[in-house]
Amino acid sequence: MTTWTGRTTDLTVSLTEHSGIDRAAHHRLDEAWLAAAWSHPTTRVFVVSGGQALIDDTPEGTTELVTTPAFEAPVTETHRYFLGTDDDGVSYFALQKDSLPGRMDQSARPAGLREAGLLLSPRDAGLMVHAVALENWQRLHRFCSRCGERTVIAAAGHIRRCPACGAEHYPRTDPAVIMLVTDEHDRALLGRQVHWPEGRFSTLAGFVEPGESIEQSVRREVFEEAGVTVGEVEYIASQPWPFPSSLMLGFMARATSPDITVDGEEIEEARWFSRDDLAAAFESGEVLPPFGISIAARLIELWYGKPLPRNVT
Ligand SMILES: [Zn+2]
Repeated sequence: MTTWTGRTTDLTVSLTEHSGIDRAAHHRLDEAWLAAAWSHPTTRVFVVSGGQALIDDTPEGTTELVTTPAFEAPVTETHRYFLGTDDDGVSYFALQKDSLPGRMDQSARPAGLREAGLLLSPRDAGLMVHAVALENWQRLHRFCSRCGERTVIAAAGHIRRCPACGAEHYPRTDPAVIMLVTDEHDRALLGRQVHWPEGRFSTLAGFVEPGESIEQSVRREVFEEAGVTVGEVEYIASQPWPFPSSLMLGFMARATSPDITVDGEEIEEARWFSRDDLAAAFESGEVLPPFGISIAARLIELWYGKPLPRNVT
């Protein structure tokens, strides 16, 4: 089998780059330290709401998270998440609120991770993905899974505690596998999900089930969705995907049988593409180039051997 890991040096996956932020988890239970950090003049705060934060374009042509000093931050009825510190000792917090604050300057705009992840620096993207993941988990885990009582936020956003039974609940992450399958002719298997717009094809993907290794999960998902059997499986990279709480584990996989039988429920159509097939399909508009931050586009690019055309729609 082709070994892909030697070719991945240029593979940058959004939301996974080194952010330069130390999460400093040992401070999360230290209320005195957190209070001092919050009131420190260099501390920066941003609001996260419904998976969105405010971003703004700089005169230098970059895009950044809109942050404020803590003393300007709206603190009432908020959840405060401590996200970490940078090399200069600056502390970062996110405030979860029901809506984003209004801004006097009109250039700042709300954005979700799918947009912001393409625009922000690794530092800001890392801060935002941490905050969005915490917000999603907090929103969906307000009650104790052991006794049903309402839980309360603790550890600067990283624990929910049950006052009735004492249980501590930690943020959950759901592993999912995403894989580009190739065959003996070096063609790639791409599929169309039932609810996707016309022309959209991508890698197959699915959730890891209880009691299953990630390699088993890759083989099961490909067989369930496309009827293709898979032999060797090679891990490439991972990507936090808090929509609402996944961790995407990216693989290249090698088919041992080329015959396709789609399940018809999740996957409507699957096809083998050679590089020339795919280039021609992009050219004719039959297949839409993948767009966005997803590791799916990076896996396809790794096989394709050059940057994919950008989908500007
Ligand atoms: Zn409980």
